[in-house]
Amino acid sequence: MGLIVQKFGGSSVANAERVMNVANIITDTYRQGNDVIVVVSAQGDTTDDLIEKAKEINPAASKREMDMLLTSGEQISIALLSMAIEKLGFPVVSLLGWQAGFNTSSAYGTARIKSIKTDRLRAEVDRHNIVVVAGFQGLNKYDDLTTLGRGGSDTSAVAIAAAMHADRCQIFTDVEGVFTADPRKVENAKKLQEITYDEMLELATLGAQVLNNRSVEMAKKYNVEVEVLSSLKRVPGTIVKEVAKMEKMLVRGVTKDTDVARISIKKIPNNPGVAFKMFAKLAQKKINVDIILQSVGRDDTKDITFTVSKENADEAVKAVLDTFDIEESNIVCDKEVAKISVVGAGMESHPGTASKMFEALYENDINIDMISTSEIKISVLIDIKDADRAVSAVHRAFYPA
Ligand code: ASP
Ligand code: MG
Repeated sequence: MGLIVQKFGGSSVANAERVMNVANIITDTYRQGNDVIVVVSAQGDTTDDLIEKAKEINPAASKREMDMLLTSGEQISIALLSMAIEKLGFPVVSLLGWQAGFNTSSAYGTARIKSIKTDRLRAEVDRHNIVVVAGFQGLNKYDDLTTLGRGGSDTSAVAIAAAMHADRCQIFTDVEGVFTADPRKVENAKKLQEITYDEMLELATLGAQVLNNRSVEMAKKYNVEVEVLSSLKRVPGTIVKEVAKMEKMLVRGVTKDTDVARISIKKIPNNPGVAFKMFAKLAQKKINVDIILQSVGRDDTKDITFTVSKENADEAVKAVLDTFDIEESNIVCDKEVAKISVVGAGMESHPGTASKMFEALYENDINIDMISTSEIKISVLIDIKDADRAVSAVHRAFYPA
């Protein structure tokens, strides 16, 4: 018995049948004696479709009007889902983000939740109504509707769980939980019972698209335990929490990120301040740099190589050319690369993880271009054509069949 927040993504409510399925999950939870607050996203591809519609009319539409448009997707799903719950004979009320008290920053399209005024939510819960809240939206100080950025409903759910001190926050999706690798591609990928916030953040940034990053950051900040589980199969999912028990395994996941470009600059002056100038320039342009490698200088020059996301690659090259007086032929930008990473909080105190990873790559004749490590991950940069093979080989090394 307690207060449970349940979030359902677009695919979980994509059509009438799925809406009824979700209504059944919610009312089962309620019937067991819990209060339930539901957060729901727009049905299926609704948000993408709305964006397309806008483009047909005005590709340069203002962000304010885009938010006015996009928030409508979630308005449809809260109403339909509430109707489904009514049909099952349970007390329910739907609320838009602003009705649920979501105060956000004014940045249309990428608003941040500033606070949640919980009075209304609290009153509805006290009346034992099932509350169905529109995810991904709020109201800014101008009383205008805002959205939280794509995939923002996860964050709405975690924020409500934190503000209402919920006993549990369940994020239902179309996968069964967090896996050690993409289960559609890697044989023997295993569902994790538990994972830490930091590991989840690494996996999320590295492309395991189960939870929106910001929601994990928020869950960590407010110490909200989040369960990721399937809305289609009723089996336990993966729990994301501060300290997760080690199921003997040190590596929680192997991931691939193909949104990478490698920029190599040869023969830049071997003076103090060169790296500073270059990365300051990139930072000024808001370009995030990931792996950095600098060669030992010889004679008067040295080489620097770094990676950025593909969309930033051309601008990064330009920034370097603007900063240094070097010939264009000394810069190489390679977009045909991929980053393969192993993630696990325990590896820090266990030597051998890196060598095991490298061995698996070597045995499969896959060349490593760059390496970077942190406390909880080891990443290598390789040729994009080897990426899937590399993930499977590395996963096999840590999870033999
Ligand atoms: N409907 C929004 C989107 O597609 C929010 C969400 O799904 O979480 O980005
Ligand atoms: Mg969506």
